[in-house]
Amino acid sequence: MTNPIQAVRGMNDILPSETRLWQHVENMLQEVLHSYGYDEIRLPIVEKTELFKRTIGEATDIVEKEMYTFADRNDENLTLRPEGTAGCVRAGIEHGLLYNQVQRLWYHGSYFRYERPQKGRYRQFHQCGAEVFGVATPDADAELILLSARIFAKLGLGPYVTLQVNSLGSVEARSDYRKHLVDYLTTHQTQLDTDSQRRLTTNPLRILDSKNPAMQELIANAPKLTDHLDTESKEHFATLQHFLKNANIDFIVNPCLVRGLDYYTKTVFEWVTNELGAQGTVCAGGRYDGLVAQLGGKPTPALGFAIGMERLILMLQQVHKAPTRAHAHIYLMTDSDATFQKGLEIANALRDEFPRLCILQHTGGGNLKNQFKKADKSGARFAIIIGEQELANQTAAIKFLRETTPQQTVSWLEVPAFLSRHLEKHLVE
Ligand code: ATP
Ligand code: MG
Repeated sequence: MTNPIQAVRGMNDILPSETRLWQHVENMLQEVLHSYGYDEIRLPIVEKTELFKRTIGEATDIVEKEMYTFADRNDENLTLRPEGTAGCVRAGIEHGLLYNQVQRLWYHGSYFRYERPQKGRYRQFHQCGAEVFGVATPDADAELILLSARIFAKLGLGPYVTLQVNSLGSVEARSDYRKHLVDYLTTHQTQLDTDSQRRLTTNPLRILDSKNPAMQELIANAPKLTDHLDTESKEHFATLQHFLKNANIDFIVNPCLVRGLDYYTKTVFEWVTNELGAQGTVCAGGRYDGLVAQLGGKPTPALGFAIGMERLILMLQQVHKAPTRAHAHIYLMTDSDATFQKGLEIANALRDEFPRLCILQHTGGGNLKNQFKKADKSGARFAIIIGEQELANQTAAIKFLRETTPQQTVSWLEVPAFLSRHLEKHLVE
């Protein structure tokens, strides 16, 4: 016997028992994004490697060790997208979407990073992202954060997430702060772990983001970025906090929040949960005012966020113990070719009348007793039975599968009215 081939490590199948929950979340995200005037953009999964090197930054975890990069048959250097912003900005410039206008865009899809797979961290994962182009003022930051808050609230996750915000300042302020930080860390070099030793020269701000418990005291005493902000960033951050407070959005300022990508300026934020162990960030984003120009577009302020879909789904399953599989509403049984044929007709008429109804028509033969077992397992509330006698009388027997109410016989024409009376309203509207 040959060994069955298995999926690539860290790349998951999303099984039928879970897809309904995914669809529910996806629909809800789309609804909220549309209610704020965002339009969807669909982007390629593969981009030129150069795009990610230039935007995310050479000295970041993603570019250093997480990208799926390959040469195609023509020796072009390509990469499976590890995040969405770079491609979105690339497309925006390429199609002239960003110049002299406010653009609100969203997208959803698969992303790829070569990481160590664990709960909430995979090699193929999904993000839903939102990006706003063309607004430099902090009102846009506030609105974007409010949008993300609405998503958590609508999913019933409000009580399980915390908003953290920080400001990374202008590029100049950040490089000034970087000097102070490197001075401080160099004087304590013996306390740095191996990763941080390396980052001291390549990306010292990332040291603040270290999860190593042994490093936490050193980090807590480090100079704070917020003490080195330029005046404009300081005011921007203060105004944003003011808006958030007045909108009753709870948040904490986390001076160690630096984000793993180089392109951020001013505002950065994360929605964090305690429900998922080490993979606590469910949504992350911020402002990236320099990126459009850096990629060759006209200078355009911009900001955005990305939600990690797997983490969101995990949270919902954990917190709400969400039942994920949809039930059939009706199980339709017949016992001959002629009654089956009639059954098809009746099922189709019901689908025309009630598009939201799930009707499972029995196929594969077998006696009615057996079919009743299947009907029970399907979760349906009603079995509709058409046997020879019903066929002759132009009626259907309707059995209540979850209640003790006695079985009823109704004429074919009356079946829709019967269901309207007995099924939940949203199914038969
Ligand atoms: P982390 O610190 O957890 O590695 P990150 O800073 O690398 O996250 P971002 O690049 O900001 O993550 O991506 C935005 C969101 O996408 C994250 O907050 C997370 O919810 C999700 N995400 C990132 N990487 C993965 C992954 N490998 N598997 C599943 N979800 C992920
Ligand atoms: Mg990461």
